[in-house]
Amino acid sequence: MGTNTQPAESIQVRLNAVRAHIASAECQYGRVPGSVALLAVSKTWPVADILAAVDAGQTCFGESYVQEAMPKIEALAGGWIEWHFIGPIQSNKTKQIARCFDWVHSIDRLSIAQRLNDQRPPGLPPLHVCLQVNIGDEPQKAGVGMAGLPILADAVAVLPRLKLRGLMALPPLTDNFEAQRQMFRRVREALEMLNVRGLGLDTLSMGMSGDLEAAIAEGATMVRIGSAIFGSRKVKI
Ligand SMILES: *Cc1c(COP(=O)(O)O)cnc(C)c1O
Repeated sequence: MGTNTQPAESIQVRLNAVRAHIASAECQYGRVPGSVALLAVSKTWPVADILAAVDAGQTCFGESYVQEAMPKIEALAGGWIEWHFIGPIQSNKTKQIARCFDWVHSIDRLSIAQRLNDQRPPGLPPLHVCLQVNIGDEPQKAGVGMAGLPILADAVAVLPRLKLRGLMALPPLTDNFEAQRQMFRRVREALEMLNVRGLGLDTLSMGMSGDLEAAIAEGATMVRIGSAIFGSRKVKI
């Protein structure tokens, strides 16, 4: 977690620039205005920076590491922030994730989904989840491959304490806009394929600071933006 804080105004200026970028991409690519939600990725940034974004009206925040996220969630307790877990999931961390987060984007195997289902406290609504797809079938990357996706989706969809919402993707980084679009298109087609099977999914979590426009062009409903809001991370994670 970063210790230095930065002027709240610079976060708010960048946040408004990201909102404007999302709105213009919605318009340019024929998307319904307001149909792309903004998840602010606050990993490595302190509570003060999250509060600066909250002051500017941001309510959804994404974190990648449980240990880093827990003190922030405790410091900001009160239910007015929606917390999204977007990082790799170790099975010894599922209990904390099930208790403290509202959404999980990074489910890539059934054993993790079952643990989250079993550990979601009865007093809380079902945990909203997305399956992370390894769209490039990159061997070193997390995510379920296309071949295993339908079986995993069917199994997760019936878990009563989870609400399967859609897919998340973290495609290989490239500056090439057409190449970005092509990867995101495959994620959208995968979601459409699952919906033909009757799963009723409504969420495509894709697009980061460097590729949000291509993601919106291909149907993203939630973009996950870190550095364009908070600045570039000193630690690259
Ligand atoms: C860090 C991270 C992001 C945000 O990346 P930026 O390039 O800083 O916008 C989005 N999604 C995931 C899964 C991440 O780990």
